[in-house]
Amino acid sequence: MYKSIIVGTGPAGLTAAIYLARANMKPLVIEGPQPGGQLTTTTEIENFPGFPDGIMGPELMDNMRKQAERFGAEFRTGWVNSVELESRPFKLNVEGIGELVTETLILSTGATAKYLGIPGEQDNIGRGVSTCATCDGFFFRGKEIVVIGGGDSALEEANFLTRFASKVTLVNRREELRASKIMQDRVRANDKVQWSLNRTPIEVSANEKGVNGLKVLNNQTGQEELIEASGVFVAIGHHPNTAFLGGKITTDANGYIVVTPGTSETNIPGVFACGDVQDTKYRQAITAAGSGCMAAMDCEKYIESLEYSEVKI
Ligand code: NDP
Repeated sequence: MYKSIIVGTGPAGLTAAIYLARANMKPLVIEGPQPGGQLTTTTEIENFPGFPDGIMGPELMDNMRKQAERFGAEFRTGWVNSVELESRPFKLNVEGIGELVTETLILSTGATAKYLGIPGEQDNIGRGVSTCATCDGFFFRGKEIVVIGGGDSALEEANFLTRFASKVTLVNRREELRASKIMQDRVRANDKVQWSLNRTPIEVSANEKGVNGLKVLNNQTGQEELIEASGVFVAIGHHPNTAFLGGKITTDANGYIVVTPGTSETNIPGVFACGDVQDTKYRQAITAAGSGCMAAMDCEKYIESLEYSEVKI
């Protein structure tokens, strides 16, 4: 039996692993099909403190993993199919490993950005297609950018990207936007943003140098149009990776794990959550890492309290 199992190896899970390993708790970290999480799909990270010249996403994640291993964290590859949290110790059914038993569980399975599934999109990730304005906006200084989506994420990204871009075109498949009124007002007041509403994206256009535009269908005229741009930011939402929990942990309406504010505690004592799987607001590597530290410390305190109550009995 493990004292603690951490599911997920983004910055949240790996930071939790570093802290728990250093506390001599010998955590087991379960790596899924994308070790290192979303950061391994970005190129250079320029806003993670401590790297004045930036660092490549995969290198940062590799460093965090080595740091956790140095203190004794164990890593195994597998896919968690289901969890049994009704009785203690907790049980995990892991494809590729089998059943694992643990006193505590840290959930750091992240969230996955939704993509449109149109031609040219996946092939051009890192060549002009992005799902993270904070990560990649800086690379589009003085260039034209398209942002796809009509929710708060898209409008926030559009506004943010005007700091770098010469022009941002916001493409939404409907005339109406889902975003809050305050966000809409803010973007409408920004004269660097152009609106391309009632247009359905159909293809990311690119050449050997990278992205050069987005082809859309004008839903009113039925005509195809090309919006020229060097960057295409897809901002149509994220989905948290919580399906394997089978509804046993309390989530919000969108599936994000609910934690007690200011902690990493879920509705089940001994189960903690950190990183994007419980974060609908910040979604940054550094905030994920910070929340991973919180989860490890909450977990340690919980185990201590168990040991104390066992001694008393
Ligand atoms: P939303 O679900 O609110 O919006 C998604 C947008 O993408 C919609 O405009 C939707 O269009 C569009 N879309 C979805 N699928 C497709 C597709 N296949 N093709 C074209 N367009 C598509 O997601 P958000 O990430 O914007 O927001 C999620 C939650 O997070 C919301 O509750 C939001 O308020 C919150 N949030 C809050 C922020 C803040 O307060 N600062 C910042 C960011 C998010 P359609 O409307 O037609 O379905």
